Amino acid sequence: MSENPVQLVLQGLCKVSDCIQTNLSRFFPRPDDPSSSLPRNKTPLLTLSTPTHLRQPDQILNKGKSSGPTTKEDLGRATWTFLHTLAAQYPDKPTRQQKKDVKELMEILSRMYPCKECADHFKEVIRANPVVVGSHDEFSQWLCHVHNVVNRSLGKVVFPCERVDARWGKLECEQRACDLQGTAAMDFTK
Ligand code: FAD
Repeated sequence: MSENPVQLVLQGLCKVSDCIQTNLSRFFPRPDDPSSSLPRNKTPLLTLSTPTHLRQPDQILNKGKSSGPTTKEDLGRATWTFLHTLAAQYPDKPTRQQKKDVKELMEILSRMYPCKECADHFKEVIRANPVVVGSHDEFSQWLCHVHNVVNRSLGKVVFPCERVDARWGKLECEQRACDLQGTAAMDFTK
């Protein structure tokens, strides 16, 4: 019996699709595929079951660092960058919620900072120097001061706090989309 031409076309397409899948699986083997050429204990970096947005070349996964563990110094620099950038963007007239959040953030940091000796020391530092959060100037100067307390304890150079705004600016974001909104006048949550 002669076959329907549409069926013939569909069968042809299925063969092409099988061929593509077979060839792709050579590049992106599934970890559980017994015919895979990968050793059993090696999970391939990319598999067909990996969602597209998670497929990353090796050099991107390790971007900017060697594969060694994060050091106390790396962590410190990253954390100070985060804190001073936050202070640079902290509004001149913060809302009551923003003041509360910054105080809580410092408290949490002194408990959860992932270097116990640093966290314990920082707890003492903020006990002796309570967080000042009334305005951008107050908070950035306070942060500069406590960073200097840590610097001194580590035998590092003390930073001139009058230069803190020159050293740490707001995050570069188009149309100031990263700025924190402030002004107590607009705060209806109180
Ligand atoms: P960092 O001190 O990390 O400073 C980064 C950059 O900030 C500097 O290059 C400079 O440009 C600028 N800077 C320096 N001082 C100031 C300032 N006062 N104000 C504004 N900008 C400044 N390490 C320990 O070994 N023991 C600890 O107990 C300890 N406690 C820490 C507590 C906290 C909350 C944090 C965030 C870090 C702590 N660290 C601790 C890490 C330590 O402070 C440094 O981050 C680390 O030693 C790397 O130092 P660094 O010389 O590269 O510059």
